Formats: sequence, C-alpha cells, structure tokens
Amino acid sequence: MAKRPAVDFWADAETTFVQPYQATKTYLCPGCNRDIERGVGHIVAVPPDAVDLRRHWHRGCWNGRATRTPRR
Ligand SMILES: [Zn+2]
Repeated sequence: MAKRPAVDFWADAETTFVQPYQATKTYLCPGCNRDIERGVGHIVAVPPDAVDLRRHWHRGCWNGRATRTPRR
C-alpha cells in the first residue's frame, strides 16, 4: 500500500451512516468545526486502530474531505 500523508488519516476509516432518527445528540463536525444538529443524518467515521478517535461528520464534509484544497 502506498504511503499516505498524515492528513489522509481518515482514508481507511470505517464509516457508518447515522439515520436522522438515530441522531439524538449534537456533535461537532471536524470537517467544518460546526455542530451537527440533532435529527440530521450524518457519517460516523472510525479510523483503523484508533477507535477512540471516532468522529461524526456532516455527510457533505466527509465527502468533500479528500477534494478540499489544503490551507497553506
Ligand atoms: Zn461539517
């Protein structure tokens, strides 16, 4: 497997879609640093070997994660 930059930490993460009715709490999305409101369907990503670091993402933020231009 090709070596990945650290920024691609999430590339191998396991993702699960949380249905709107399952979203009973507000979460902070690491993609945009905004809240994911209750009742909003979103993605839970669990990095391999780092289950403690699982994060809830907006679906759009998760999908756009790889294509976003990095800040310099
Ligand atoms: Zn977001």
